[in-house]
Amino acid sequence: MSQPKLLNVTEEIVHGLVRFLLFSSDYQTFCHCEHCELNIVANVLNKLPSNYVSSIQERNDVYNKLKNSIYINIVNKEIIHAIHSVGKEPGH
Ligand SMILES: [Zn+2]
Repeated sequence: MSQPKLLNVTEEIVHGLVRFLLFSSDYQTFCHCEHCELNIVANVLNKLPSNYVSSIQERNDVYNKLKNSIYINIVNKEIIHAIHSVGKEPGH
C-alpha cells in the first residue's frame, strides 16, 4: 500500500496536454511563460469535472480510464479555447 495522497487526475492530464499543445508548432506565436501556462490550465480545470483520488493505485486506475480518445478530444477542445482566450489577454 502506497502513502495516501490527494490528487486530481484531471489536473495531471490537463497540465500534460497544455504543455504538449502550447509547445507544438501550431501555438508557437503564443506566450509560453509559466504564468500563461498555469492560467490556461486553471481556465480548463474550471470547465471540467475534477477526478480526485487519494492513492497512487487509484490514480493509475482513473488515469487509464480517462486516457481514451473521446475524453482527450473534449479536453483538447477546452485547452484550445483557453489558449486563445489567455493569448488575447495574457494579464502581464
Ligand atoms: Zn505569458
